[in-house]
Amino acid sequence: MIPCPFHFLTGLSCPFCGTQRMAWALLHGNVSEAFHYNPFVFCLLPVVLLVAGFYLFCKPLRPRMKWIYDDKTFVCYLLAALSWSIMRNIWGI
Ligand SMILES: [Zn+2]
Repeated sequence: MIPCPFHFLTGLSCPFCGTQRMAWALLHGNVSEAFHYNPFVFCLLPVVLLVAGFYLFCKPLRPRMKWIYDDKTFVCYLLAALSWSIMRNIWGI
């Protein structure tokens, strides 16, 4: 596993710490263990896969799904990741 540079430098967990272990657990079919490692990315993963699938395979739907890629949505993703990062460091998740 590759160590997280943010965690290495600050001792704090970034929003994506535990993602490698989560992916490893998912690949081995351990869903609850995967959720334990990083609930934020675990919950976001289906959304990311759905959006990527629509983008890659449903070209006619791209104009309707433009809101997913706009700046306001990106700010929401960023705020969610920042909130998760703060919560996990306060509560030690
Ligand atoms: Zn990290």
